[in-house]
Amino acid sequence: MFGWCGTVLRVNLTRETLKKEALDTDLARDFLGGRGINAKTLFDEMGPGVDPLGPDNLLCFAPGTLTATTLGLSSRLHVSTLSPYSGIMGDGSVGGSMANVMKKAGYDQIVVEGVSDKPVYLLIEDGEVSLRPADDLWGLDTWATTDRLVERHGKGVSVACIGQAGENLVRLASTMVDKYSSASRGSGAVWGSKNLKAMVVRGTGRPELFDRKGFLALSKEDKLFMAKDRVQKEVASVYGSHYGITNWYPGYRNFEKELPPEEVPEQLRHEAWKEFEIDRVGCQSCHIKCKNLYKIPKGDRKDEIGEGMEYEAVYCLGTNCGVEEPIAIMEMENLCDAYGMDVIAVGNTVALAKELFNRGIIDKNDTQGLDLSWENAKDQVELVHMTAMREGFGNLIAEGMYSLAKIIGNGAMDYCYHVKGLGRGVYPAGLFSLAHAIATRGADHLRGRSWASGENSDEDVLKDLMKKGIITDDPVQSMIHGERVTTLADAVGRCKGAVNTWTCALPLIWKGSLFDGLADMLTKATGITYTGKTIEDASDRIGAVERAFNARQGITIADDMLPQRPDFKNTQEGAEEREVHMAMVKEWYRENGYEPETGLPTREACERLNIGYIANILEESQPSEKWDGPLLRDLADYPTGGKRV
Ligand code: SF4
Repeated sequence: MFGWCGTVLRVNLTRETLKKEALDTDLARDFLGGRGINAKTLFDEMGPGVDPLGPDNLLCFAPGTLTATTLGLSSRLHVSTLSPYSGIMGDGSVGGSMANVMKKAGYDQIVVEGVSDKPVYLLIEDGEVSLRPADDLWGLDTWATTDRLVERHGKGVSVACIGQAGENLVRLASTMVDKYSSASRGSGAVWGSKNLKAMVVRGTGRPELFDRKGFLALSKEDKLFMAKDRVQKEVASVYGSHYGITNWYPGYRNFEKELPPEEVPEQLRHEAWKEFEIDRVGCQSCHIKCKNLYKIPKGDRKDEIGEGMEYEAVYCLGTNCGVEEPIAIMEMENLCDAYGMDVIAVGNTVALAKELFNRGIIDKNDTQGLDLSWENAKDQVELVHMTAMREGFGNLIAEGMYSLAKIIGNGAMDYCYHVKGLGRGVYPAGLFSLAHAIATRGADHLRGRSWASGENSDEDVLKDLMKKGIITDDPVQSMIHGERVTTLADAVGRCKGAVNTWTCALPLIWKGSLFDGLADMLTKATGITYTGKTIEDASDRIGAVERAFNARQGITIADDMLPQRPDFKNTQEGAEEREVHMAMVKEWYRENGYEPETGLPTREACERLNIGYIANILEESQPSEKWDGPLLRDLADYPTGGKRV
């Protein structure tokens, strides 16, 4: 095979078997790689009623079709599972070096099934694969685990692992790659439920390309074009996504409002973070280096180094929780990385808890004495420790924002601003709400949103996209393109960029119609003739499979609704806004070939996309129990091991 390696590794932890299977060529052609092949695997092999933390959940890892080639920004690994955080398709794209190394070792996908009866880690050294005991690693944080495994297996390996949070089945736990990069949606808890501590990979080969010379020429063109992009030069490489704190209206106190630039505290502004920066670093195969390496200058974690603190950390752990102290934010970011938790999920859940505390829905009796006043950074840092260890009130935070509101009751859900369990602000009907409503993993800034609005892209790129009718005044039409470009980036392994720009997510966008340049690259890599239209179809196919997967988890059209504040929800304007929003959602369904009354892919659309069997399965399925967050357990039944960091 060209482009792909041709091999899928199946790891069955219950049976302790490691099996190499040939990658299905039709699957590769139609779903490309990364998010695409993972979504198809999850749909085909997992029906409704699976406990995300039970033995029947699957953990899928897949680099993109163009990973480990000369294309820049292509070292993204997609980690997909049934999310224990949201209870629906949970997938995340993670940087670092794992995707490159996995592909160089010869694997297009690794699928982990079952549960080991003791802690293990997976060791891959090119063609050699084995399961190793991990008793000595269990209880360690992600940094210590990575250091120990690199020391044991030598430099050049990439390590993905979990920390105490994953072991303790914290639903906010992430898969951590090379210490600092996180794949979220609770995948870390799935590792923990399987007794899988780490994956260590060394890869020394490289995928064969059909036309290596032609591909190299196109990668060079892409790099040159990116080098001219003002946003990459002046923003992404200098500030990374920190830039957003002063420019993207971050949430404030559980989305009570969005902070306009002039209200962002001086010490949190993007320029201010330079004070702590000691270097700039990036993922393998990326020249942008959008991440900062920083050192905490004082406090409990004085001199500790952290990497890649992004806009999301500053706003989710900071402004949206009412905290304005950079030292505390850096401490919490490092704690999340070391324990292995997602900063966005932790921040959103803590912000909700703080709102409930400040409204008197919970008090110090519920929080075991913690003062969750908005500005109290010290107790918030303590709560991050408690969450990873499932101590006291942290045991509730560890369940995630939707489940926290469900467990507390007493009107708490009114303040849980979410779509399908993921939090991402309160917006009026319009482009942002539409993007959040239709994203298949829940409210999300990394699906169509920024691309459909063009909010961060270079002016010249933007003008060209407007001229071509890609970005228009019609949010539905713009969203169709925005969704496709992000789906394709996730499938070919391209980073969507530090500041969510078109140039990052989509190579060669200036060539022909929108996807012609990428299609040319895929053709040269794989030898399969792709066109702009066939890869557009690949994107639509992936979206339809994800939607069908969620339908079997009980998601309905009602879950594509926008969150509203309680004082607005029951007003006439609130009802009108929901109507406007739903009209847009239905229009988007129609344009995508989905049934307007259910949001499900129609038989006609499935057959056109060569996935007619999905229509059969959807028609034959019994209606699933309506989605109400992930399946929960008794809070007393969770493990609580490991030591605090
Ligand atoms: S832009 Fe940033 S996150 Fe994306 S590949 Fe480059 S360094 Fe990694």
